[in-house]
Amino acid sequence: LRTKLPQVGTTIFSVMSALAAQYEAINLSQGFPNFPCDAYLLELLNKYARSGQNQYAHTFGVPALRQAIAQMVATQYAAIYNPDTEITITSGATEALYAAITAIVRPTDEVIVLEPCYDSYVPAIELNGGKPVFVALQAPDFRPDWAQIRAAITPKTRAIILNTPHNPTGYVWTPSDMDTLAALVADTDIIIISDEVYEFMSFDERPHLSVSRYEALRERAFIVSSFGKTFHTTGWKVGYCLAPEAFSAEFRKIHQYLTFSTHTPTQYAIAEYMQEPTRYTQLASFYQQKRDKFVGLLQGSAFGIIPTQGTYFQLLNYEKISQESDTVLAEKFVKEIGVAAIPVSVFYHNKQQDKVLRFCFAKDDETLEKAAERLRQLP
Ligand code: PMP
Ligand code: GLN
Repeated sequence: LRTKLPQVGTTIFSVMSALAAQYEAINLSQGFPNFPCDAYLLELLNKYARSGQNQYAHTFGVPALRQAIAQMVATQYAAIYNPDTEITITSGATEALYAAITAIVRPTDEVIVLEPCYDSYVPAIELNGGKPVFVALQAPDFRPDWAQIRAAITPKTRAIILNTPHNPTGYVWTPSDMDTLAALVADTDIIIISDEVYEFMSFDERPHLSVSRYEALRERAFIVSSFGKTFHTTGWKVGYCLAPEAFSAEFRKIHQYLTFSTHTPTQYAIAEYMQEPTRYTQLASFYQQKRDKFVGLLQGSAFGIIPTQGTYFQLLNYEKISQESDTVLAEKFVKEIGVAAIPVSVFYHNKQQDKVLRFCFAKDDETLEKAAERLRQLP
């Protein structure tokens, strides 16, 4: 078989979660909460499923949910999106990213990808015949390196993918980052694909700078997010894409043949649940406390703590503990100390690895305490 993605294996998230289950390790690898979502959200799901909302949803998404997102984006980011023509519900952010990339990337187009990066971007670019052009984010805080991004732009640059708050580093884009991006793409046709799945997890009073806040960017952007993170329901796979009408029209052509529509009763449930904004606006303080708890528990350990500004991930540098590669060490940690993490090198395509592992702190306090106790014992 002449395969289309010869270089792609099983995603690290499946690999590490399976290994964690096999060895009964505490799973801080794949990003998902180990606590339940709000019981009221489940009641709403039950209500809509029982009342018969179980057939195909509208291909663009249930109108009430598109309306609720339009309202949320208007209040949070002062951006106006038309729910009929500019908002599309997808089966998770993964589908939205794939549809956006497929809608615009043509063979030989270049797409600038800032690495480390989430693992679904590059296969989607390559399946469409595009070429990822990698620019490394800058240590120690993993900010974008604007000189290098500028240097990576060519006449073939079709798009730039950004992700804020950033998985796996937790970096949150600043006003200066956004302004620099806007200046860089002005007078070009470069499209922005903005992955904002952690939009409600920006810490220490940092606002989430959605691309939708910036008119010059929003008019050329696909903005992708997901309710999986926001409502502790990663298994529901309900995401969305905001994009100007002409962009959304192309996006919807792909979406209708990828999945056609998204699970119906969950869309109704989320639409009603979103009517109370504190249900998402309180998420940042909730996860900030989790971060502080986990980091506090690791004080005095041999790990170097790389401050996280957003998301539910914490990077830890282990160079004082081991000189082994992060993939080898991640496997050893599962088998020998019973804690699963993600090796950060898998988020890179070009760069040497940095002896860093990613830990997910979307866990109940007891789990975080147990994991930290094991990690603290390492010399
Ligand atoms: N983008 C990023 C940065 C992610 O971390 C994830 C995974 N959680 C996704 C996209 C995919 O989101 P979803 O589970 O909604 O498909
Ligand atoms: N986004 C999640 C993470 O980074 C995993 C999603 C997945 O398993 N595909 O851990």
